[in-house]
Amino acid sequence: MKTLEELCFSNTYARLPASFYQQVAPTPVPNPYLVGFSEEAAKLIELNPQEFQRPEFVEIFAGNRLLSGFEPIAMKYAGHQFGHYVPQLGDGRAILLGQVQTATGAVWDLHLKGGGQTAYSRMGDGRAVLRSSIREFLACEAMASLGIPTTRALCVIGTDMPVYREDIETGALVLRMAPSHIRFGSFEVFAHRGQTDHVKILADYVIQHHYPHLRHEANPYLSLFREVVSRTAKLVAQWQSVGFAHGVLNTDNMSILGITLDYGPYGFVEDFDPRFICNHSDEMGRYSFEQQPYIGQWNLSALGSAMLSLIDREEAIASIREYPEIFNQAIDELMRAKLGLQHSEAEDTSLWQKVLNLLAEQKVDFTNFFRQLGNFQTAEGANKEPLMRMFPQPEPFRAWCQTYRQRLMREGRSDTERKQAMDRVNPKYVLRNYLAQIAIEKAQNKDFSEVNRLLSVLQRPFEEQPEMNHYAQPAPPEYRHIVVSCSS
Ligand code: AMP
Ligand code: MG
Repeated sequence: MKTLEELCFSNTYARLPASFYQQVAPTPVPNPYLVGFSEEAAKLIELNPQEFQRPEFVEIFAGNRLLSGFEPIAMKYAGHQFGHYVPQLGDGRAILLGQVQTATGAVWDLHLKGGGQTAYSRMGDGRAVLRSSIREFLACEAMASLGIPTTRALCVIGTDMPVYREDIETGALVLRMAPSHIRFGSFEVFAHRGQTDHVKILADYVIQHHYPHLRHEANPYLSLFREVVSRTAKLVAQWQSVGFAHGVLNTDNMSILGITLDYGPYGFVEDFDPRFICNHSDEMGRYSFEQQPYIGQWNLSALGSAMLSLIDREEAIASIREYPEIFNQAIDELMRAKLGLQHSEAEDTSLWQKVLNLLAEQKVDFTNFFRQLGNFQTAEGANKEPLMRMFPQPEPFRAWCQTYRQRLMREGRSDTERKQAMDRVNPKYVLRNYLAQIAIEKAQNKDFSEVNRLLSVLQRPFEEQPEMNHYAQPAPPEYRHIVVSCSS
């Protein structure tokens, strides 16, 4: 495990032509302090977790001091926002400090969000508020613990600098990590300006550093696109399987690596509702929970268009057409596992779709239902009370249970074994909005204990942690209608 000064950097993005980014250092902030930190994330970059306690750590990740390997830049990109092309976005408040190389050869971007203005800030102040920084920090680490590809987060730093949104708020910074923060929009920005040479440079870079196994394919660019299609389809299927809604699926928030990127007004659905809209600014519900699979494909079309100087149009279309099948296969597999099924039968899709319909009709808690389903007993006449109680009108669910029971009988697995398998895929703990909100309210009063306690619960989402039971409760009435919007 290394000290900060011992980290090795290999800043390959900064070796791309200057038109890919702006060289810009973070703008210092007054009186930074440590709010939250992830030891798991520190391990990924081989950083000794003791380093969190050093005053230099806080200074560095507040953007007040640079490590000698840093070459800070703001990345240029564009994107389709709510369906409309915006020619230039870019890191308006995030700065890629440097890329850490580990002993195993892994590379991690250290990406500081809230670090001050850049050439891409447009009208923005380059800053982030404490609430959204805590939300992003917790989401990164919670999603990773659920086994869902995502950016990671090393820490949240607060500061005495006021930030002006609808109200005056506490300013903060979050240090994100990922093998890359390249977005669909990183391609779009050059394609829409006719800079096809830049599109090629970027594609070559992505293949060299992130998809090296595609280098010797007959058409590496088409293979790259096809793999992004596949990874995106599988990622969205994983979101659907845990009830996660991203909230702002603009193409600038879509990762070329197929990882979850840019957590703003995201949400985990509680009382199941396929039309769940977690982003208060999304009036039309473009990014509602049930739209995500389609939006994934729509966004891939935008990426495909941006790559047309490298790949044949017909082949691009054919790749995009593969998306629904990849998605359907992935979601089927995930949902079968959630029901505790090992083998596949033709009727399985309708089995899980039916139960989702029941959850929606009767507003049953998505996470708690699947966790509780693990206790289902196949013996004739076994007590199903705790499950039945989740449904205000249990009759239709009782009927579903008959079919489910017969289906389980054909699996030939013991109840105990099935429960163990189900508990490994149906989390007990997810990042419910109100849990984040309580941690945020405490942090706003300088009590950071809840941020770190919540983090530790969410880092073991599949474990019972009986002393933490209350973190598995649905939102209490006073927290049911918290609104999150794009303001951050
Ligand atoms: P987002 O909605 O967070 O994905 O951001 C969309 C674009 O707006 C990105 O280019 C951000 O860098 C930029 N942006 C968002 N908030 C700010 C801010 N406070 N200051 C500068 N740029 C921002
Ligand atoms: Mg974004």
